[in-house]
Amino acid sequence: MVSIPGPSTIPDRVLNAMHRPMPNIYQGELVDIAFEMLDRLPAIARTTTAHPFITVSNGHGAWQMAINNTLSRGDRVLVLETGNFAKNWGQMAATSGVIVEALEADWRSPVDLEAFSERLEADTEKGIKAILVVLTDTATSVRNDIKAIGEVLQAADHPALLMVDCIASLCCDVYEMDAWGVDVTVAGSQKGLMVPPGLGFVWAGPRALTAYETADLRTGYFDWEPRRTPDLMYKIFAGTPPIQHLYGLKEALNMMDEEGGLEKIWRRHEILAGAIHAAIAAWSSPGGLDFNIIEPAARSHAVTTVLCNDIDATELRRRAEESAGLVLGLGIANMGNAFRIGHMGHLNPPHVLGTLGTIEATLHSMGAPIGSSGVAAAAASLAPHF
Ligand SMILES: *Cc1c(COP(=O)(O)O)cnc(C)c1O
Repeated sequence: MVSIPGPSTIPDRVLNAMHRPMPNIYQGELVDIAFEMLDRLPAIARTTTAHPFITVSNGHGAWQMAINNTLSRGDRVLVLETGNFAKNWGQMAATSGVIVEALEADWRSPVDLEAFSERLEADTEKGIKAILVVLTDTATSVRNDIKAIGEVLQAADHPALLMVDCIASLCCDVYEMDAWGVDVTVAGSQKGLMVPPGLGFVWAGPRALTAYETADLRTGYFDWEPRRTPDLMYKIFAGTPPIQHLYGLKEALNMMDEEGGLEKIWRRHEILAGAIHAAIAAWSSPGGLDFNIIEPAARSHAVTTVLCNDIDATELRRRAEESAGLVLGLGIANMGNAFRIGHMGHLNPPHVLGTLGTIEATLHSMGAPIGSSGVAAAAASLAPHF
């Protein structure tokens, strides 16, 4: 079993929907599904005004598509650097020809809104063209308050585009593209969306589509124009469609509808994240391990990064996999001695309790200093919802 922050567990229904021979790609069901996906994608980003684009790529391709279609060589962008993914998106922008400035942080907290506001005020010429930020940074497991970030931009009357990487936690953490004033949303298929890696998504709001008109980083493959008003399905994908992935995506969206929509799915993630956080809080009392994100309200509902002190995280991960077949996420970038639990997408209490029970057994096997039972704390936290 994998409990890593992507690729997440793929439901059997999605896998089965993908298992099929090559269909007619010129007309019929596949073509209908491709256009149906364009109709259904805006709802999961909570937008009625943005156009959805699909790239046949991982999330990095969606990052690239967002940059190339909105910015020009020499533009200045500000990256709100609350972790490794925001930083890497900024680096991609820099190698694409944009001047990147960073609002740095300690990687244990969300964006400092006051510092952000000061940075915008200092930009008296209003030369910053875009703000790059992540909803949930998968390295640190911080969840940024995108609504508040949008409000700061508005209060400063600053015209920068707000571009948000939701790759880790779209359909896990609450996200409202239109209501929060977001111009560009970026996501990928393999995390909250429960589809194997291979699709990237970019939702471009009206201001982003206006920025496109003058963006000189536009490149052939990623260019929005031919993909935007396609007379042929082929143009949506700038080539052969990702056939299996489209069938898988349709099935995943159907499953989300059957579950009762985004509010229900967000709530499920909140409850399951609550169980995981309760377990970590219980284990952490003797100080052997700790949450990376200090402020409880800023902890993601899709992934949790656990810092280890006396406990060897590499050994913990090795033992959990060798003894029980549980794959945990490793600590990436400068997170050091850490591990991560992915809790995104196709997830239920048995999955979460199994993961936590396996971690607890592994911690016991290592003689690690843990306080009370994390599994008991998780079960108690779930009980009121049963
Ligand atoms: C996974 C992830 C990415 C990278 O996605 P790939 O599909 O690996 O390219 C970028 N940003 C965030 C927040 C992620 O979680």
